[in-house]
Amino acid sequence: MLQAIGLSKVFSEPARSLRDIFNKEARRFYALRDVSVQIGEEEVLGIVGESGCGKSTLARTVARIYTPDKGRIIFMGKDITHLNNRELFDARRRMQIIFQNPYSSLNPRRRVSDIIGDPLRLHGLYEESAISEALRAVGLDETYAKRYPHQLSGGERQRVAIARALALRPSLMIADEITSSLDVSTQMRILELLKRIKNEYRLSMMFISHDLAVVNYMSDRVAVMYAGEIVEEGPSHEIINNPLHPYTQALIESVPDPRKGWRPRVKEVEGDHVSPGCRFAPRCPYAFEKCYAMRPTLTQYNNSRKVACFLHQ
Ligand code: SF4
Repeated sequence: MLQAIGLSKVFSEPARSLRDIFNKEARRFYALRDVSVQIGEEEVLGIVGESGCGKSTLARTVARIYTPDKGRIIFMGKDITHLNNRELFDARRRMQIIFQNPYSSLNPRRRVSDIIGDPLRLHGLYEESAISEALRAVGLDETYAKRYPHQLSGGERQRVAIARALALRPSLMIADEITSSLDVSTQMRILELLKRIKNEYRLSMMFISHDLAVVNYMSDRVAVMYAGEIVEEGPSHEIINNPLHPYTQALIESVPDPRKGWRPRVKEVEGDHVSPGCRFAPRCPYAFEKCYAMRPTLTQYNNSRKVACFLHQ
């Protein structure tokens, strides 16, 4: 369904001093560095990592909201890396992205019927019944069509965002932290809903979250991201039960357990953006000399797993 090959995306931090203005190179940072992922038909790939690790940049880059600086994106057999907006029209219908914040992703001046109906009209797919069908699919009745976003709860808004995406009959759905602004009970209901529609509509999915337990619940495979790179990838149950990369181990250990108390094993320091070595080295409890000199690449560990760590290469 989707193949991203060696994606890199570089941003520039804003200049904070006169010297910064002339030193463009020092302000550049890699939001994505040589990231490759693939998602099969009806497969869910989970992307997990802490805030700022590049998960959302990856979502926006594969959806071609951003254009990658390097690499290729193949979607349904077609290279969409450098297509312009007009050429991307059909791919954008088939690849729908749902954003984290349901409060800002819906136009407050439009009724739910227009929020769902406008994209359908744009793609020439509008039918009167499509609105109620999409609402029903996400567990809302027809009366919601007349409401405005401010008349909905957070969970209902996220359901409307899912209905809008679903109405376009996508093949791939990208869910970018869609439950993180919701309370716990609503989160669970949205996850159940997503699982159900994934099966009913036979969707492929990229599911992004900072919460490893949620990603494990939703995904067939998991890719762990750190500082713009994928550091470990494999079947979700294997990653949870036997994490190989020290960062994945730290992610799992960071889930607080009231019986054991909580002592973080990794140091809280800023990632080293310019070091030639492993980007996790400043925080890694196992770092040795080679880790500061060379960057480990994502390497096949066994038939199903890949890891980027010298401890396993
Ligand atoms: Fe730690 Fe070295 Fe592995 Fe990086 S390569 S995660 S620093 S042991």
